Amino acid sequence: MIERKRSAALFDEAKTLFPGGVNSPVRAFRSVHGPPLFIKRGEGPYIIDEDDRRYIDFCASWGPLILGHDHPHIREAIIQTVRKGTSFGTPTRLGNEIGALIQSHHPHVEQLRFVSSGTEAVMSAVRLARGYTGRSKILKFEGCYHGHVDSLLVKAGSGLATFGVSTSAGIPTSFARETLVAPLADLAEVSRIFAEHGTDIAAVIIEPIPANNGLLLQHRSYLQALRAITKEHGTLLIFDEVITGFRTAFAGATALYGVVPDLFTFGKVIGGGMPVGAFAGSREIMKSVSPEGPVYQAGTLSANPVAMAAGKAALEQLLAPNFYPDLNRKAARFCEKIASHASHAGLPMHIQRVGSIFWLAFGSSRIARADQIDGENMKYFKALHGLLLDKGVYLGPSGYEVGFISGAHEESVLEEAASIICAALDQVFA
Ligand SMILES: *Cc1c(COP(=O)(O)O)cnc(C)c1O
Repeated sequence: MIERKRSAALFDEAKTLFPGGVNSPVRAFRSVHGPPLFIKRGEGPYIIDEDDRRYIDFCASWGPLILGHDHPHIREAIIQTVRKGTSFGTPTRLGNEIGALIQSHHPHVEQLRFVSSGTEAVMSAVRLARGYTGRSKILKFEGCYHGHVDSLLVKAGSGLATFGVSTSAGIPTSFARETLVAPLADLAEVSRIFAEHGTDIAAVIIEPIPANNGLLLQHRSYLQALRAITKEHGTLLIFDEVITGFRTAFAGATALYGVVPDLFTFGKVIGGGMPVGAFAGSREIMKSVSPEGPVYQAGTLSANPVAMAAGKAALEQLLAPNFYPDLNRKAARFCEKIASHASHAGLPMHIQRVGSIFWLAFGSSRIARADQIDGENMKYFKALHGLLLDKGVYLGPSGYEVGFISGAHEESVLEEAASIICAALDQVFA
């Protein structure tokens, strides 16, 4: 592997400053080769590291950068806003403007509230669901990630136990017991859980397009069934669209599947690269949020004007008439190129994709549940990741992470990246 001396030295220093040298765990490159890249600059589809090497970026800051790096419109909006101050702790006109833009273009957002991260959005939506229904249990799915919210860092218990066990130290067992966990793509299990606990379940929370543990695409009929069973039991359905909102379409997974939840959570793309999250839903439910209703929720830097300006500038670009069709077509062509190479060469892998989100899946059959992923195959990803870094292509540093294509990835850049990836795959499986 090519040495990255400056990143390596910075990482050594970082390890004295931060646990594991990072401020978010997967950045530490624990499951791939080498020290993490320290990035000093981004430019359209590229990132440039401290060793002055350039990479075609498919991590996109983990999803937010649907317009690529340093988009001129977003940059200008930030600069114009920051000139007037960075934070006032008051309502601002900019907050109204982005709020109105979302309300008028997302058919199911009647009201929303801005927060500063996806985790905060989910935490608040879960509290709202509990406050609104007066119930305490939450049903989630194995293989979905909802940020580092206490009651959702929970996986299925062993055997037939329905109650979850926490996946992190520091979460009381009593919290984990309020969370029920089901496998994805298994309606029988959901029915069984509802038969037993239906009247206690405040909300079902799901990534309608699960994209944090591979890309575990679900059938429309499955989401429709979740909608029906939650309605029947007076349970709220929460779509965690932190990663898919404004990504697969302006109205995210709802536009794709036609299934409408009671509450949405947003993050990533909504902030144009700045820290923004939001939770949203019908006026009827949102009026339970303080100060109008009894569900407390607040934030010193919520709806920060600089972040609002960035988010608004980004969302305006996404509303251009052909933005999503063009992006999705480019992404499809890119993925087809790799997939057809893999199938001609008989490589044991395939690509799962929706819109501009893709996942390099090892093995040949479609994967829809977390337990269908063979962890052994991650050795192939590790080898691939190292080869790609040397050739100037950056994927998120884990085989469980999806890749993102942005509006800034020109056809020619994608052609180049696809060729590099195909050659690297040949080498991995040689
Ligand atoms: C990224 C993500 C989160 C957490 O968002 P943060 O901004 O990292 O707190 C929650 N849910 C989903 C679906 C996500 O993809």
